[in-house]
Amino acid sequence: MSRAWVRGYPDSARDGAVHTQTRVPRYPGSAVAQLAAVQDGMPVATPAGMTTHLHLVRDDSPRQSTERPTSEDPALRPTCFDDYVGQAEVINNLRQSVRAAKRGGWQLDHMLFAGPAGLGKTSLAGVIAAELGGKLRATSAPAIEHKGALASMLTTLEEGDVLFVDEIHALKREIAECLYSAMEDRLIDLPAGKRVIRVPLPKFTLLAATTHAGKLPKPLLDRFGFVWQLKPYTLPEMATIVARSAAKLGVAIDEEGAQVIAQASRGTPRIANRLLRRVRDAAANAVVDGALVVYGDRVGKNGAINGPLAATALAQLGIDHKGLDALDRRYLAIVAERPVGIEAICAELAEDRSTIEDAVEPFLVQAGLVKRGGKGRLATEAGRDHLAEVAS
Ligand code: ADP
Repeated sequence: MSRAWVRGYPDSARDGAVHTQTRVPRYPGSAVAQLAAVQDGMPVATPAGMTTHLHLVRDDSPRQSTERPTSEDPALRPTCFDDYVGQAEVINNLRQSVRAAKRGGWQLDHMLFAGPAGLGKTSLAGVIAAELGGKLRATSAPAIEHKGALASMLTTLEEGDVLFVDEIHALKREIAECLYSAMEDRLIDLPAGKRVIRVPLPKFTLLAATTHAGKLPKPLLDRFGFVWQLKPYTLPEMATIVARSAAKLGVAIDEEGAQVIAQASRGTPRIANRLLRRVRDAAANAVVDGALVVYGDRVGKNGAINGPLAATALAQLGIDHKGLDALDRRYLAIVAERPVGIEAICAELAEDRSTIEDAVEPFLVQAGLVKRGGKGRLATEAGRDHLAEVAS
C-alpha cells in the first residue's frame, strides 16, 4: 500500500505500520478506522463508525498489518524438505536423489514439476536448491525474450547452481532449442561475428515448472531426468499448511479455524495463504475486548481465529465452504438443468473463454461438480446438491 500519514502526526509518514484498516488497542471502542483519500490524493486516517473521540489510528502490532502489495510472501515458503507439507511420494524420491547427488558428488538431474498454479512448484525448486547447498537463479519463460537473454543467464551460472524456469511451456521455440544442448551436453552456441563458438557451461541443474505439461515440445520434455506431477493437497495436509502459515504470520488460529480455511482452499496452498490473510484481516478488524475476539456474535478464545469466525469472514468474501466464489456458482447454476455449450456459458457470464476454461472449469470438474460431455457442460448431482445447500 502507499505510505500513509496521519494528520497532526507528522512522524507517521515514516511509519510503515499505519494501515488502511486498523484498530487502536488501548481504545477498545475505536475498533476500526478507514484510510480515506483527501482531495489531493494523500491518504489520511479518518475514523469510521467510531464511538469515541479518537482521530489518530496507528498500529504498532505486526499482527495487524495488512497484506503487502507483493502477492507471494517469501516468509511462507517452505525452506527444506521437512518444511514442505504433503506430496509425499515426490518428496521421498527427491530426498533420495538429492542425498545421492551430494554423496556421489554429481549434479542432480534436470527436473520438471507439472501441476496447477499455487501447488508448490516454485517452492519445491527453492527447497531443492537449499538442500543441495547451491544457489538458486529463478526466472520465467516469458521473461527470456531472446537467445541472448538465455545465453547470458546460462554463462553466468556457477558450478552447482540451480536454474529455475517457471512456465517453461511458454518458452519460444528457438530459445527452447538453445536449451537442448545446454541441458544435455552443458554447451551453448554463441555467435561471434560470422562464426559460432561453443561455450562449455558449468555443472548446473535445470528445474522447471509448468501448468501445461502437454504444451512442452517433446525434445524438451525428453531432456528432463524426471517429470513430477504435483497433486492437489488433501484436507489434513491443507489444514497443516494453514496452521503452519498462520504460525509464520504470527496469527493465532485454532484447529477448527484452520479446518474451515483448508476446506475452502481447493487443495491449493496459495489459495489457503490468501484466504488466511483475508480472515486474519477480518479478525484484526474485529472488536477487541480483553482476551476475546468478537466478530458479530462469534467469539474466539484468546484472540484466536476459530471456525465460526473463519466461516463468517469467508462468507463475507463470497466464498463458500467448498471454496467456490460467486462466478463459480453462477457457472454451476447455468449448467444445473441441462448441458450447455462453452460459448453460451461465456456469453451468459460475460467472461472470455480462457477465463472460464482455465480459471473456472478445472476446479469444478476436479471437485466432481461439473462434467464435460459432447453436448456441453452439465452439473453433476453433487454440483446440484451444492447449489441447493449454499442457497438454503
Ligand atoms: P507454484 O509455483 O506451483 O505456483 P508456489 O511454490 O509459488 O506454487 O506456492 C505458493 C505458496 O504456497 C508458497 O508461497 C508457499 O507459501 C505455499 N506452499 C506451496 N506448497 C507448499 C507446501 N507443500 N507446504 C507448505 N506451503 C506450501
